[in-house]
Amino acid sequence: MATNSWINETLYPTWGQRFLVKRELARVRSDFQDIVIFESFNHGCVMLLDGVVQITEGDEFVYQEMITHVPLLAHGCATNVLIIGAGDGGVLRRVLQHTTVAKAVMVEIDGEVIRLAKEFLPNIAGDAWVDPRADVVVGDGIDYVRQAPDASFDVIIVDSTDPIGVGEVLFTDEFYANCARILTSGGLVVNQCGVPFMQHDELSETSTRRAKFIPHVGAYVAAVPTYVGGFMTLGFAAKQPKLDSVPVETIRARAVAAGIAGITHYWTPEIHVSAFHLPPYIAQHLPRGSSSNIRSD
Ligand code: SAM
Repeated sequence: MATNSWINETLYPTWGQRFLVKRELARVRSDFQDIVIFESFNHGCVMLLDGVVQITEGDEFVYQEMITHVPLLAHGCATNVLIIGAGDGGVLRRVLQHTTVAKAVMVEIDGEVIRLAKEFLPNIAGDAWVDPRADVVVGDGIDYVRQAPDASFDVIIVDSTDPIGVGEVLFTDEFYANCARILTSGGLVVNQCGVPFMQHDELSETSTRRAKFIPHVGAYVAAVPTYVGGFMTLGFAAKQPKLDSVPVETIRARAVAAGIAGITHYWTPEIHVSAFHLPPYIAQHLPRGSSSNIRSD
């Protein structure tokens, strides 16, 4: 990829975004995927896996804050957190911002993603890699949840690639059955469900699957500029009811106690609460009766 050439995202066959490349930083074929990192003109450094934008320095805060702070503060007293995927380290950093968290295990299948993120995107994880509460495992998320003890995590965050290639196993019944088993009785899991305007199957299929094993299923939205196509959805499944409708003042108090208040750029207590109110074009892809399923009919 030459300097000042365009790179096209290949996520959708008939539509997409492109970036003008200021400088290519890495191009690696790992055992699992093609990894490209380049410096852009408007978004800082950008990482693509198999031609799909995973993260840009410019807007990573939206996704990382929403996939982390929402489940942790909805739970209210999460001390043990499991992160699957998220090899750039951004979710790990946001989890460890919670002073209430005692241990965060991150399981990423591709050690090359971690190595390249440390070298070229160091600000995304910051000091998280060396935090004594962090345990970074290079391995397959499905194997990890198979082997983890019962009731060992309060929150599971699944920051995976889309359900193709190595990420596919993270969208299976077996994966969610084990998530249910290893969650504590007040536990919950969130996972990235894509952009429903373009990928509504991801939301409907994973919601139906999660509902088989975890009773209270819903979703919430975040507007991530480089996940093009409007809102992206984050799936939410909890063992206890009403964790997706915790009052705003409770969320605010929990954020203050956890050291999160005032340090975010997208997440606020109000956005946390409102993100569960879904436009009907998104809600229609959740199973009927889902807690976040705000229907217009
Ligand atoms: N936040 C970005 C997004 O949603 O597009 C970043 C996603 S993150 C970089 C996705 C990571 O999940 C990748 O690094 C990939 O290697 C990892 N991954 C995919 N399948 C996995 C599996 N079975 N177990 C663990 N990690 C996996």
